Amino acid sequence: MGRIRYNRLCGGVAERFKATVLKIVVGATLPGVRIPPPPLVGKIMVDEITKIKLEDLGYDEFFESKWKSSELTDSSVARVVAEHKETYRIKNADGEYLAKITGKQMFNAVKREDYPAVGDWVVITGLDEERAVIRNILPRKTILKKKYSDKQDAQIIAANIDIAFVIESIDRDYNLNRFERYFVLANEGGIRPAIILNKIDLVSETELNERINQIKNRFDNIDIISTSTITEQGLNELANYITRGKTYCFLGSSGVGKSSLINKLLKRNEIKIREISDATGKGKHTTTAREMYFLENGGIVIDNPGTREVGMAEISAGIKNIFDEIIFLSKGCKYADCTHTHEPGCAVLKAVGEKKLNENKYQNYIKLKKESEYYKMTNLEKRQKDRRFGQFVKKALDQLK
Ligand code: GDP
Ligand code: ZN
Repeated sequence: MGRIRYNRLCGGVAERFKATVLKIVVGATLPGVRIPPPPLVGKIMVDEITKIKLEDLGYDEFFESKWKSSELTDSSVARVVAEHKETYRIKNADGEYLAKITGKQMFNAVKREDYPAVGDWVVITGLDEERAVIRNILPRKTILKKKYSDKQDAQIIAANIDIAFVIESIDRDYNLNRFERYFVLANEGGIRPAIILNKIDLVSETELNERINQIKNRFDNIDIISTSTITEQGLNELANYITRGKTYCFLGSSGVGKSSLINKLLKRNEIKIREISDATGKGKHTTTAREMYFLENGGIVIDNPGTREVGMAEISAGIKNIFDEIIFLSKGCKYADCTHTHEPGCAVLKAVGEKKLNENKYQNYIKLKKESEYYKMTNLEKRQKDRRFGQFVKKALDQLK
C-alpha cells in the first residue's frame, strides 16, 4: 500500500481509539429548561446511563451565541439526530426526545430549507413528558444540499457537517469526474471533502498507487484514505481521522461500501448491508430514516439515504426529492389515503394554492406518481388499461364527429 497522506485534525488520537464506554457527565452544559427524560425504549435507554455533553454532539460557541440571540425564554437546544415521517428525533445532554415543529413554523416554512434537517441545532421547549416542540432552527454552519433541476428548490439533506467523505470503490466504480461532482456539492455547502478509496482488496498495490497519483494530479490538497472493510486495511487511519465532536457524512454511489464502513466504525452491524441487487433499483435503505450515529471515539456520522445518489443525474433521486416534500406536506391532509388531487382538507393542494408548493413540482409529482403506478402494474393490467384508454380516445373522437 502506498503512503497515504492524511491530516489529523487534532490530538487525542490514541485515547480516542480505546474501546471504552462514553464518559459519564451528568447534566447539560447550558441553562434552560430540563425536559423530563424520554421513555425507555431501544437505543434511547443507552443515553440514560451514558450522559454526554452538548459539545460531544457538536455544539460550540457559534451555536451558543446564536441560541442566546434567539431570545426564546425557557428554551434549550438539542440536535436533530433523525428525521422520521412525522417527527424529528432530537438529542441533548439529557437524552433523546421526539419533537415536532410548531404550527407557526409550518406556516412560515416555504422551502425545504425552512424545515429542520438531520444535523440541525434546534431551539426547543418542552411539550410533555416525552415530546418537545422545535421552536427555531439555529443558523447552519454548513449545509448539504441536493439539486435535481435548476427550476426547483434544492433539497437539504443534512446540516452542520464538518467533513464529507467522498467514497468510491477502487474497482468498477472508480471515476475522477464523479469525485469532482461531489466536491462541488460539498464546497457549495461549505463542507470540506476528503476521499475514501474503498475495496482496495480488489486491486494490486501498483494499481492502488497509480490511482492515488491520478487523484493527486487532478486535485490539490485533498486527503485520501484507502480502505478495505474485508481486510480491514486503512480502517484505523479512518477512525483516527475522525475527531470528537465533529460531524461527518458519507457520499458516494450505492454499493461502494458506505454502510460497511460505517458499521466498521461503529464496531457493530447497525446498518444493514445491501442485500438487494442494484438492478431492481430497490436499495436496502429506501425506507430507513436519516440518522446520526455517535462513534466511540466521539465522532459523529450521518448516514443518509438521501446522500446516496447525490449529485448523480438520476431520475429516481429527483422523484424521491419531490416525494419527500409532498410526503412531508401530506401529514397535514385530512384523509390518510389522500391522493392530493381533489380531496377536501388536502394540505398539498392547500400549499399549491398558497404558492408554498411550486405548481410545476406538484404537477410533476402527480405525473410521476401515475407513471410509477403504471410501471407497477402487470403487463396484463397495462394492456387492459391501454385498451380502455384506446376505447376512451375512440369514443371521444366518435363524439367529435
Ligand atoms: P453502500 O450502498 O455504499 O452502503 O454499500 P454497502 O456497504 O452496502 O456495500 C456494498 C457491497 O460491497 C456489499 O456486498 C459489501 O459486502 C461490499 N463491500 C463493502 N466494502 C468492501 C470492501 O472493502 N471490499 C470488498 N471486496 N467488498 C466490499
Ligand atoms: Zn392531500
